[in-house]
Amino acid sequence: MSVAKNLMAGRILEEQLFPYPSLRDKDREVLGMMVDAIDQFLGPRHQDFKRWDVKAEQPAEFIQGLRDLGLFGLIIPEEHGGLGLSNAGYARVLSQSSSHDSSVSLTIGAHSSIGMKGILLFGTAEQKARYLPKLASGAMIAAFCLTESGAGSDAASIRTHAVKNADGSWILNGEKIWITNGGIADLYTVFARTSSAAGKITAFLVEAACPGVSHGQHEDKMGIRASSTTTVSFADVRVPADNVLDSEGKGFKVAMAILNNGRTGLGGGAVGGMKALIALATQQALTRRQFEIPIAEFGLVREKISQMTVDCFAAESVVWMVAHYIDSGAQDYSVEAAMSKIFASEALQRSAYEALQIAAGSGFMRDYPYEKITRDCRILTIFEGTNEVLRLYIALSGLKDLGKSFGELKAAVDDIFNNFIKGFGVLTDYAEKRLTQATGVGRDKILTPLPEALREAAGIYERYTLELAKAADYLLRKHGKSIADRQHDLKRVADIGIDLFVGLCVLSRAASLGRASGEQGVQAIGIARVFAQQAKRRMANIVRRITRNEDGEMNRLAGFILDKGRYPWDVVS
Ligand SMILES: Cc1cc2nc3c(=O)[nH]c(=O)nc-3n(C[C@H](O)[C@H](O)[C@H](O)COP(=O)(O)OP(=O)(O)OC[C@H]3O[C@@H](n4cnc5c(N)ncnc54)[C@H](O)[C@@H]3O)c2cc1C
Repeated sequence: MSVAKNLMAGRILEEQLFPYPSLRDKDREVLGMMVDAIDQFLGPRHQDFKRWDVKAEQPAEFIQGLRDLGLFGLIIPEEHGGLGLSNAGYARVLSQSSSHDSSVSLTIGAHSSIGMKGILLFGTAEQKARYLPKLASGAMIAAFCLTESGAGSDAASIRTHAVKNADGSWILNGEKIWITNGGIADLYTVFARTSSAAGKITAFLVEAACPGVSHGQHEDKMGIRASSTTTVSFADVRVPADNVLDSEGKGFKVAMAILNNGRTGLGGGAVGGMKALIALATQQALTRRQFEIPIAEFGLVREKISQMTVDCFAAESVVWMVAHYIDSGAQDYSVEAAMSKIFASEALQRSAYEALQIAAGSGFMRDYPYEKITRDCRILTIFEGTNEVLRLYIALSGLKDLGKSFGELKAAVDDIFNNFIKGFGVLTDYAEKRLTQATGVGRDKILTPLPEALREAAGIYERYTLELAKAADYLLRKHGKSIADRQHDLKRVADIGIDLFVGLCVLSRAASLGRASGEQGVQAIGIARVFAQQAKRRMANIVRRITRNEDGEMNRLAGFILDKGRYPWDVVS
């Protein structure tokens, strides 16, 4: 059962939150060696990363080094030549590589998290035997081809199409844009429109060597500049029948499953970036002196360092909880995965801003690493689902399950939410339903024994779980069929959900760490208390704005400005 969706129904699924999970022994063994090897290989290359950022390239010898380290086989089972790491172990590796350079993580991550993940999740035994050994060694590098010029967030509107031949093979035509690893990949997972009774999109495995496959120039990007991003084109490409992933018409489901499953890689990378920033900021604060003392003595600098630490601990707690859900075989984790992606990506961007601010003028100079990290991490709120669209997904998925409590609404609700973007505006019948009565929402108590210092934090999550359920109930009753169009409200529901789920992960981890004696345990409990108070303030503010807000005025203002096409005021006139 989904922990996050249950929060919206007023329930805290404690057995899925406590105790905080630990890494598998096998992962620890591999990670022990892998983390050191990554540091040894990437550590001395920081000047190279700066140069490759300017030149926007990753030399072939360097990619060969990544192959030699086994970084393309991280999550491929050992029987196919990989290291067989769990999602949790994999996220930890990306965390380590990201602490050195984000482009490196992108090259490895686009291959494993999305490029070849479809084969792991949906491949036949024959497809696995054919491709996984080569993908594990890096003899083949993979990429994921969904986005097109007209189809970004609205991925279901792709125009690349495949027509079936009499012998069961396919002819593929179309162009994909902004494909990570596009210029270096040997195997593409490609999504194309197919006319089939079963559905409209099909996923194909397409080898770069096939006649008709080509890629464009390396894009000139703001950040992660060394990572390969190109268009990938398909002109009358013949794809064999047995290169269909899963089955004909199931491509949209395949794409979403891959993206959901891959989000902990991105989250792990974000945590690695934050750890690097905390180390940089600490060093800077201790060595830079102003007013005759180290700037680390100033309250406003200390506040930034502690906030970065709270954010990093929280992101780490939620990312590895979600990785654990995936590793334990959970089926319904897409909302939690989206929450972890949103929280980790935004926490990293806040940390990059604050670390640069601590370094101030130096931080602005290219000699220092902050400006590159700031540029590199900007992409994380954009790709693998923009954070806006993911917030809508979180809220609508939770509301969908709440609606399902009503048997008679199930069919209507399924229709609307299965393709949540396409379904906007057609929700029916909610207005008359009294969800509070039907779901019997009441305050859910956390019964797991917790250190006394964490009881108050637990009480905050208990209270706001009830507030979230009440808000969801209120919004569904008030807006009925138009709830799916009320994006301000959906964002509020998502944001309370994110604070609750992340906060509960932090609580669980701090409870486990706090039981071990020592300063780190004490500080972990302190972090959980701080996070709970900060989350309480955010959630209280959002709850107030559910009934009293400026949504109408803001919408009208946006309409006015969109109509003008510019800011019309000027002090001159
Ligand atoms: C460096 C880079 C690497 C990438 N790598 C890959 C890759 O390997 N494979 C791949 O397939 N794609 C890749 N992408 C594409 C990426 O996933 C898309 O950029 C992303 O999905 C967003 O699409 P878009 O940029 O077209 O934005 P749009 O969808 O046009 O969105 C524009 C804005 O509108 C908002 N918006 C859109 N729809 C809604 C809505 N319904 N409600 C509210 N707000 C909305 C968005 O949040 C955003 O702020 C990459 C992109 C970049 C920049």
